[in-house]
Amino acid sequence: MNIDSSVTGKTRLLGLIGNPVEHSVSPQLHNSLSLLLGLDLLYVPLKVDKENLEVVVKALKAVDFVGFNVTIPYKRDIMKFIDDNTKEAILMGSVNTVKKIEGRLYGYNTDGEGFLRAFKEAAGTGFKGKKVVMIGAGGAARPIAVKIAMDGAEKISIVNRTTQKSVELAEVVNENVAEIVQVYNFEDKTLKMAFEESDIIINTTSVGMSPDIDKSPIENIDYFRSGQIVYDIVYNPSKTKFLADAESRGCKAIGGLGMLFYQGINSYEIWTGVKFSEKDLKDIYKSFITILNK
Ligand code: NAP
Repeated sequence: MNIDSSVTGKTRLLGLIGNPVEHSVSPQLHNSLSLLLGLDLLYVPLKVDKENLEVVVKALKAVDFVGFNVTIPYKRDIMKFIDDNTKEAILMGSVNTVKKIEGRLYGYNTDGEGFLRAFKEAAGTGFKGKKVVMIGAGGAARPIAVKIAMDGAEKISIVNRTTQKSVELAEVVNENVAEIVQVYNFEDKTLKMAFEESDIIINTTSVGMSPDIDKSPIENIDYFRSGQIVYDIVYNPSKTKFLADAESRGCKAIGGLGMLFYQGINSYEIWTGVKFSEKDLKDIYKSFITILNK
């Protein structure tokens, strides 16, 4: 028998709470990061039923986990079991990263920062003074809208199938960050104008995600204009129909893999205090893509 010493009595734990968790690439990403840095950490997936959420959080606190990620469907529900949620996470309405510090659990949201970091890297610009159209007002839209407003966007036009949700999202940003959000219906005649005047268009809906790869949240490709930056947070497929349409109109098209990567990197940085160099991040990203393709 070969002795495996990769996990010992000194190994500290990280994990992922969600349901389902089987599809997640987070264990591979985080365990590879620990291996790269030589840190004695182990990240484990924890599939949790709703009625056990509170008891699981208490247990993780009791057994001294370093921290954990939270995924669908608990990003909002978990907040009431956390000792201190950051101001940003409260505004974003969800927590995806928890860290234990001196016996207390702190809740963070890295989705917004992950999006911003990925966007800036790929687009070569941030949101200061920019006009933005955002399609969708679901769970992922809220951290993104808050972050874009914090980054100094001039205007955010939100269009969503269910108007009540876009109105609620607009209120969060307008009342807490900056009064820059306007809400549209898909039927509004002025919606096309909002697209035309925008510098950046972001899809935060799940439309176009595998297996529905022939769908796009925007059917009329005249809504895109050459020179615009178009981002789709959907990462499977890496180039959605929405992005292909935008590209065919001369837009710069960017897919959601970078966001997925950086929200994970941000979590790891919060837990360990490590700051990766640009070179390391490039190498890690290359490996990350191969994990996804497996
Ligand atoms: P969610 O909370 O369920 O929200 C879904 C959004 O899509 C809502 O705005 C919903 O509109 C809209 N939508 C769904 N089906 C639609 C349809 N047939 N027509 C028009 N609109 C439709 O989901 P989420 O967590 O925000 O995730 C959205 C997508 O982002 C998913 O594909 C997810 O995989 C992806 N995502 C990517 C990352 C990343 O790191 N890249 C992170 C998070 C999420 P209604 O409000 O009208 O229902």
